[in-house]
Amino acid sequence: MQAYLVGGAVRDSLLGLEVKDRDWVVVGATPREMLSKGFKQVGSDFPVFLHPGTREEYALARTERKQGRGYHGFTVYSAPDVTLEQDLKRRDLTINAMARTEGGELVDPFNGRRDIDDRKLRHVSEAFAEDPLRILRTARFAARFHPLGFTVCDQTMALMKGMVASGEVDHLVPERVWQEFQRALHEKAPEAFFEVLRDCGALAVLIPEITSSAVFTRAMAALRCVHNRADTDTEERFAALLSSLDEPVALARAKALKAPNDCQNLARLVTAFTPQLRNSDPHNPEADALLNLLDQADFWRRPERFSQLLNVLECTLSADFPPLNLLRTASKAATGVEPKALLAQGYKGKELGDAIRHERLERIRDAIAHTKD
Ligand code: ATP
Ligand code: MG
Repeated sequence: MQAYLVGGAVRDSLLGLEVKDRDWVVVGATPREMLSKGFKQVGSDFPVFLHPGTREEYALARTERKQGRGYHGFTVYSAPDVTLEQDLKRRDLTINAMARTEGGELVDPFNGRRDIDDRKLRHVSEAFAEDPLRILRTARFAARFHPLGFTVCDQTMALMKGMVASGEVDHLVPERVWQEFQRALHEKAPEAFFEVLRDCGALAVLIPEITSSAVFTRAMAALRCVHNRADTDTEERFAALLSSLDEPVALARAKALKAPNDCQNLARLVTAFTPQLRNSDPHNPEADALLNLLDQADFWRRPERFSQLLNVLECTLSADFPPLNLLRTASKAATGVEPKALLAQGYKGKELGDAIRHERLERIRDAIAHTKD
């Protein structure tokens, strides 16, 4: 049996990038032989093993043939007669379909090295069309390697367009789509992910509401702005993406994508606050209205989410948008009201609630009066 380093590790070392995890392909072995050498089998679908010492993944060489639609329906064939080249051929992109022998020699039957040099994302074979997830992966690699100058080559873009036109993308399960979205939102150039999806037509299936040129431009600007801030999380990035939609539209899309609840909620708040802040008159701020917004955001119980909300709105409405500054001022002013202190004064039940509200209103009124000076 022979083991070869494959996939991302080979690609990233040629790109001069740090190699995170190393995957291996084993040719000419049976599961029984692997077990007898001390490897532990993981995963029941494919014959994949963990090395007893390094814990790195060793997969038996395999071929995959598509049977049904969507992500499911692959028939896996693995046996000692499957060659390295056959295994490499089932992979998505040429830059991901290279191998290295244990002696360090590059095995590159699909010219991945040339595409690395030319900065091209290119499909390995027509079998690419059997799995629509590859469209999302290709878009994600475009986002990751955009700063290095990589683009999707014309032939691959044409193939992806054909896949979209034949309805392949409609069969992707939301969980897999979300997984790719989530990763893409954290790549170096997340806009490139959405540009590739738009260009091949997949965006019109996955988030049709942002495909028009004006909305797309705004969504990308918001995403870029949020991305440029230090330490922004998935919720903020996702909310930025949907920020220029109306609240019910954004929420329905977030649900259809099966985005996690925190992502749905932030997208809902951002899109609900945007028109309210745009329509408010910063010259005549009303303490009542500001307090209502803080209630609406459940600022009292979710202060971290409120700061996420401000982060996104600073990008979509601009950082020095006066109504946003007033909201921030109001939140700081109202935050110090301690129910405990009022309890100690003898308030309880509805009276306590009223007293808290009254106190918060007073503080907000005071604070915004000072901003006018
Ligand atoms: P990363 O740095 O994100 O881990 P990677 O290239 O290692 O990048 P993985 O998702 O870990 O990507 O997959 C390992 C390899 O398996 C890829 O390089 C590719 O050759 C192949 N692969 C993974 N998913 C698919 C797919 N859906 N279709 C075809 N080949 C795939
Ligand atoms: Mg990997």
